[in-house]
Amino acid sequence: MTDRKDELAGNLAKVEERIEAACAAAGRGREEVTLIVVTKTHPASDVRMLAELGVRHVAENRDQDAAPKAAECADLPLGWHFVGQLQTNKVRSVVGYADFVQSVDRSKLVTALSKEAVRAGREVGCLIQVALDAGVSGRGERGGVGPGGIDELAGRVADAPGLRLDGLMTVAPLTGEYAGREQAAFERLMDLSTDLRRAHPAANMVSAGMSADLEQAVAAGATHVRVGTAVLGVRPRLG
Ligand SMILES: *Cc1c(COP(=O)(O)O)cnc(C)c1O
Repeated sequence: MTDRKDELAGNLAKVEERIEAACAAAGRGREEVTLIVVTKTHPASDVRMLAELGVRHVAENRDQDAAPKAAECADLPLGWHFVGQLQTNKVRSVVGYADFVQSVDRSKLVTALSKEAVRAGREVGCLIQVALDAGVSGRGERGGVGPGGIDELAGRVADAPGLRLDGLMTVAPLTGEYAGREQAAFERLMDLSTDLRRAHPAANMVSAGMSADLEQAVAAGATHVRVGTAVLGVRPRLG
């Protein structure tokens, strides 16, 4: 193995141990939690090594970075998740490679995603990004819709051709009542997921937790954790 592949294998093993320990502590089965490795800013060669090491899901947050990487890695058995703030003018490109868009946070984006998914003959899994720090505007600093906006948006996704409503995603807020209280934030997301599943039983993905707080996410009931730095190391530049 190359040095880089050794490094990735070692980091992956440590993250795997953390997920296993968190599942055990929560009385959950390891298979209840899917690891998504966030490869943003890292090269396609890393994505290829990760796939060889058994990773099956990767995530990206900027189309400019992700599109060429996904093209280079099109032969790999990977699910691609888009997790960044998404402008409608990038939707056509993103729909070309993303199996999941986890950052759906406004109806204009739903319309654009649906149109391009139909055009491409693809079905895109959509997660509503929930901003637990949303102010009166009902929107978060870093994207996301406030809890009060989930229902309407979920209905729009569920009705949109080419889209599938898969669940909810959040990033632990840095401000507001949940600042520094990651587990409480993730438990709130779980409650919102329970509400959502009353109307949309199949929308059971709960994406929460990153390198620093994956344990809290697993404890709260997350089905997907998105881990970047702990697997790939510090990012070359701000993602
Ligand atoms: C970058 C990013 C992650 C991964 O963060 P790390 O702290 O590097 O693990 C997870 N989710 C989103 C939305 C991100 O942008």
